[in-house]
Amino acid sequence: MGLPMTDLPPLIDRHVHLEGGLDPAWVRSEAALRAVALPGSLEALWRGEAQPFEAFIEAFLFGAQLLNSQAAVAAAVGAIASRTLRAGGAGFDLWCSPSALVSHWKLLSLDAFWRGLEQGIASARAQGLQACAVVDAVNHFGPEHGHAVLDLIEGDLPPFVVGFSTGGLERVPFRQWAPVFDRARKRGLRIAAHAGENGDGNQVREAILEGGVARIVHGLRADQATLELLADRRIPVDVCPRSNALLAADVQPHPLPRMLTAGVRCALGTDDPGVIPCDLATEREAALELGASKAQLDQMRALGAEDAWCLAPRI
Ligand SMILES: [Zn+2]
Repeated sequence: MGLPMTDLPPLIDRHVHLEGGLDPAWVRSEAALRAVALPGSLEALWRGEAQPFEAFIEAFLFGAQLLNSQAAVAAAVGAIASRTLRAGGAGFDLWCSPSALVSHWKLLSLDAFWRGLEQGIASARAQGLQACAVVDAVNHFGPEHGHAVLDLIEGDLPPFVVGFSTGGLERVPFRQWAPVFDRARKRGLRIAAHAGENGDGNQVREAILEGGVARIVHGLRADQATLELLADRRIPVDVCPRSNALLAADVQPHPLPRMLTAGVRCALGTDDPGVIPCDLATEREAALELGASKAQLDQMRALGAEDAWCLAPRI
């Protein structure tokens, strides 16, 4: 009695993929039902073994290909919501790839995909969580693919879709993506990009200066000048330590302490917690192990909420 109640900012999972957030038990049972074998890469990642990026993609795509109905998409959001709640989280910014499921594999209609997301997000909100969706395109498929993704989604954009992003292999320079980003921005979407994860650190700088990207996912390979640019422009960076340890194992030491010292607005995300087992609690522990101080962890929690798109009004 007498002590003021601590008023912690909401703990937000700032970066989690729909297709990478499935419940492993659900994946096992769906694979058994469909009589398909689990890829060795997925089982290795579940055991915590580092894998090359291509093997991760195989494991990620295996789960993604199970999302062939509204119910499956809703279950995927449900798995992410449950994991977030168990770790004490209050919401999540959800990356999703409708073009892979709807256009490429033709697993379900866009309408069924949106209804599944809507159902899952409504259920998450009923449990007290905040959630929004960011549509992810594939960098290495190039800007024509980016335009095709916008062609697919822009006629029927549900209110919970607030952002557009690129992921995959960072092979195409962001100046080539700029027209796609401009188009998405005109449609009211915020722009993010996976950059400096499997690609060169210069990609981070180019994403900001040429692509006009408002948020960076990972940013691991950014040099000191780029960290200063990120800090000056108050560009948020989503940091996912467990994912980085397995998929960008060559980046040693992890730059989180350097980013924080430079004043970069870092926050934590789980990335693919159904493929690389983790949650917000383990990511916070990992950040401390990487050298972040307790005060910096608190600061990341505050920034994680301040810059979260699930807590922001749509632009
Ligand atoms: Zn990601």
